[in-house]
Amino acid sequence: MTNSAPTATRDGVIGFDGTEVVSIDQATGSELARYPVAGEREAAAAVAAAREVAGAWWGLGFDGRAQRLRAWQREIARSGEEVATLIHAENGKPVDDARSEVLATVAHLQFALDNAERVLGRRDVPAAPVAPNQRAWVEYQPYGVVGVIGPWNFPLMTPGAIVINALAAGNAVVLKPSHITPGVGQWLVRAWERAVPDFPTVLQYLIGYGATGQALIAAGPDKVAFTGSVATGKTVAAQCAQTVTPMLLELGGNDGVIVAEDADLDDAAAHIVWGALQNTGHGCVSLEVAYVVEPVYDAFVEKISTLARGIRVGSDDDAQIGPVPLTSQIPVIREHIQDALDRGATATVGGLDTVAGDRYVAPTILVDVPADALAATEETFGPTLAVVKVADTEEAIARINAGPYGLGSAVFSRDRGEAIARRLRAGMTSINDVLVFSMNPALPFGGRGDSGYGRKHGGEGLREFAYPHSFSAKTGPAQLSASTFDRPAGVMAHALAAVRDRLLADDTTKIN
Ligand code: NAD
Repeated sequence: MTNSAPTATRDGVIGFDGTEVVSIDQATGSELARYPVAGEREAAAAVAAAREVAGAWWGLGFDGRAQRLRAWQREIARSGEEVATLIHAENGKPVDDARSEVLATVAHLQFALDNAERVLGRRDVPAAPVAPNQRAWVEYQPYGVVGVIGPWNFPLMTPGAIVINALAAGNAVVLKPSHITPGVGQWLVRAWERAVPDFPTVLQYLIGYGATGQALIAAGPDKVAFTGSVATGKTVAAQCAQTVTPMLLELGGNDGVIVAEDADLDDAAAHIVWGALQNTGHGCVSLEVAYVVEPVYDAFVEKISTLARGIRVGSDDDAQIGPVPLTSQIPVIREHIQDALDRGATATVGGLDTVAGDRYVAPTILVDVPADALAATEETFGPTLAVVKVADTEEAIARINAGPYGLGSAVFSRDRGEAIARRLRAGMTSINDVLVFSMNPALPFGGRGDSGYGRKHGGEGLREFAYPHSFSAKTGPAQLSASTFDRPAGVMAHALAAVRDRLLADDTTKIN
């Protein structure tokens, strides 16, 4: 770790335009490093360099790309402790949580290595009945250059998984990491450059604030993958709409968990306290609201309050959650707590006093929260959990589904978990556990509603970064109809009569 200005420049790609990003060591609040801000010129150069190499990268084929992705995977694993230390410094999360980001990145790479060809390889499809003289197939072709704009809360794993999906699908990528965690983004690209010296510009980075993200989009990538807040997502989507640039939008969430009357309450409390407070609550899929049915409400509140009281906050080795690196979030956390208290809720743990510090916020458990309080309806993005009492699981399902978001969710029920989970309008649901869907690289990850659209991870994540190109090749003379003006008279009337007779003869198509 250095305190001096980094020498991180690649000619024509990263430059200095008069402003800097200064990263902070979250443990001490002191300056960690300075980075020159990339502007329009640097963004244009990066996208041009990416476009120049994209064809050759795609031309390597699945095996050629796999060889290089494997080398990158090895490099990430080899220097995993180094980046875990950097994540801990820039984001503030405990080193073990940082290590889990490294492990997840390696696992996403493994999924891509094992599945890219199966998911994205050429796929034959049947010939159309009206044109049986054709051989038809689909190929999944890369967009070309993908711009990835990332958040700070999971600075390696979140943009990393998207970058992996895009690269494995044959695209070149320009990454704009969050200004709070620029070093982690730079590290990921540097690891690529070390591991893949023959294709260094297939993955590049641009460091800066929102304006750098705007410059990246203005430079004209063929697809943009944005991860961040709903408000910024809407701005980015509006900019992309001007050029009809397709997007993956991974936005915020207000994840709800349902605790049914037949839940294992000890297990539920242990998982939910972690799902709400881990990473200081800075997860798009962090649990924000627990809807607990009346018969088990009091027992659940007691259990989760006891567990939350024991959570250790700080930057020491034994801390379980770290600081709030986005200090502008602290007033939002306070506002949500204040609003809930004003509306009659009680803080069994924490409360307004615990957010008095400038960067550390201790856990808060709010109980008897009215369902329309901000803490229950909006993303608090802090170490808080709102507990709402519901009459039954029907009410809990209705309340979750009425919200504008639809990212993750969870259900605790011994017998009805799956049945309840299936009725939730959300992208992902854990049953008798929390957040585990995000740990499986084979499961698509994404939202609905205000949480965004498109998917990363899994086969869907690979396909997100390729567009289907359909082919149909003539193999012989047309038998039924010809796609020329030489169509024989009566052939279409004959075809329609044949279809009519076949369908009318089929009794199974009748509704009684
Ligand atoms: P943010 O919206 O403030 O910033 C995200 C990124 O966008 C940053 O790199 C930022 O520099 C850039 N940016 C800002 N303004 C821009 C503009 N006008 N044009 C282009 N880029 C711009 O979000 P954040 O605080 O970094 O992240 C926290 C949010 O991200 C939370 O809401 C969280 O729920 C969400 N998130 C979602 C997912 C997911 O997968 N759905 C994952 C992690 C975080």
